[in-house]
Amino acid sequence: MTGRIHSIQTFSAVDGPGLRCVVFLQGCPLRCLYCHNPDTHDVHQGEEKTVDEVMEEVLRCQPYHGRRGGLTLSGGEPLLQPGFAAGLFARCRRFAVASALDTSGCLGGPAVRRAVELVDLVLLDVKHTDADRYRELVGGGRADAVFGLDRVKEFLALLDELKKPFWARQVVVPGWNDSEADADALADVLGPHKTLQRVELLPFRDLGRWKYERLGRTFALADTPEADPQRVAQLEDRVKRRLGLAAGSQ
Ligand code: SF4
Repeated sequence: MTGRIHSIQTFSAVDGPGLRCVVFLQGCPLRCLYCHNPDTHDVHQGEEKTVDEVMEEVLRCQPYHGRRGGLTLSGGEPLLQPGFAAGLFARCRRFAVASALDTSGCLGGPAVRRAVELVDLVLLDVKHTDADRYRELVGGGRADAVFGLDRVKEFLALLDELKKPFWARQVVVPGWNDSEADADALADVLGPHKTLQRVELLPFRDLGRWKYERLGRTFALADTPEADPQRVAQLEDRVKRRLGLAAGSQ
């Protein structure tokens, strides 16, 4: 089994519990306005590797990552290659390596389900909670984008059904989702899902602009200011309080 890999980062402290080896898979069906990895979008780019080759690298790092750390699959959208993701997660189980999946939750079907069954923890990026704004945000500004919030809700239902632990994340973008009402709406969407363990709001930062320039593409949020981290922390506390999670922790 082979997959297309964008890159591998052997030490990350921000992609799940503990220290992780993060494998970025190539390809993404979304075009989020704030995406700072536009070089992961094209499914034809990247390098082809086998499950064994990737796992070899993960296992090489594992002594430094400990029991809490492990492998996180990110992207791009890792569930665009669900068979490869499932193969890696199955191998993680065999070698007692903790696994995590960083996904937008926009894809479904039996192969996606199998990958989610096998992973230990899902990091779900709920990009917006208003259906129209969601479509526009993930569709590169197009209000008629194919992927809608309904897909994320179906993914949340799958997490419920599989009793899969998950963290919810959202990038806070000024003028898009930085109001108290946006925070409350996020808490309302997440509230019914009992396996939610943690909420992380991340400030929008203008990190990927140079990549767009290099690719000859326009960065749609070039005129949008970066989010104020203090404001984002306040909104995160608000979401957590509403959900009964400890505010100010994490
Ligand atoms: S889901 Fe959005 S942010 Fe993530 S790689 Fe795809 S376009 Fe970029």
